[in-house]
Amino acid sequence: MARIAFIGLGNMGGGMAANLAKNGHDVRAFDLSDEALARAKDAGCLPAESAAAACAEAEAVVTMLPAGRHVEEVYAGAVFDTVPANAILMDCSTIDVETARRVAADAAARGLTLVDAPVSGGIAAANAGTLTFMVGGSDEAFRRAEPFLADMGKAVIHAGASGAGQGAKICNNMLLGATMIATCEAFVLAEKLGLDLSRFYDIASVSSGQSWSMTSYCPVPGVGPETPADRDWQGGFAAALMLKDLRLAMEAASGVSADTPMGARAAELYQRFSDEGGAGRDFSGIINMLGLSPRD
Ligand code: NAD
Repeated sequence: MARIAFIGLGNMGGGMAANLAKNGHDVRAFDLSDEALARAKDAGCLPAESAAAACAEAEAVVTMLPAGRHVEEVYAGAVFDTVPANAILMDCSTIDVETARRVAADAAARGLTLVDAPVSGGIAAANAGTLTFMVGGSDEAFRRAEPFLADMGKAVIHAGASGAGQGAKICNNMLLGATMIATCEAFVLAEKLGLDLSRFYDIASVSSGQSWSMTSYCPVPGVGPETPADRDWQGGFAAALMLKDLRLAMEAASGVSADTPMGARAAELYQRFSDEGGAGRDFSGIINMLGLSPRD
């Protein structure tokens, strides 16, 4: 059992902090929202008055914040000045690679160790403790972070040096955004060609068009396994978050002059879907914008 500071108790962080407490850790939790703090208390964490108070005497720090500027603000404004020198710092937020590397370098300059450890898996996986963590940092930093991350997930993978966790996350999600749109397009075309969509699923899911977007997250209601499409595309992974990740991928691509035309098109299409009211819907709901006929 370790004393852990957990900062950012939102949709994802709330469940993650609860799992650390469930695994016997002494979790000192902080969030700007009183509601989030109250939920963390109910889940067995000890609410702290500030991020700095949470970090005092912590052996480990976990942050799960919206974006790079929040991460920079929390580490520079509270964590670095209060945390003991031997604590391991883990940022699990999805942020831009450049900020991730900068914050880790700032930590190192103060003799502290910070890994980027973004996650794959949504709110349900955060609650169930079945997230996948992709970790950027040295071998030694990974070895120290792994046991804590394992208490919140089903897989903890060392992606490489500092920033590599964020790199892996945005490359994965760029691939996901593009394959989801391609899968939706294929279903829409199949429908317009008069095919039965369940029959097309049976064929494509065992043929070369198969992908996770088709067989684990089919965007068509009543086809394949149960997915958000069967719940009117509610819940699941919000299109706004997919758009966020695609923008991070495009920013990273432009920083290293990588040619990513499919990712760029996916970002444009998710921007349009969000502008047309889809931001809060599951990202597979983009199939409606692409022309799937209304379901009963
Ligand atoms: P969220 O908005 O629900 O939670 C963020 C929390 O951070 C909020 O409770 C907010 O009050 C708190 N916060 C913001 N600034 C703070 C500060 N200075 N000090 C303390 N608390 C502060 O977001 P979320 O859905 O939990 O996502 C968190 C991160 O995880 C994001 O980077 C997101 O991209 C990533 N992510 C989300 C999902 C998902 O399905 N929701 C999946 C994978 C990754």
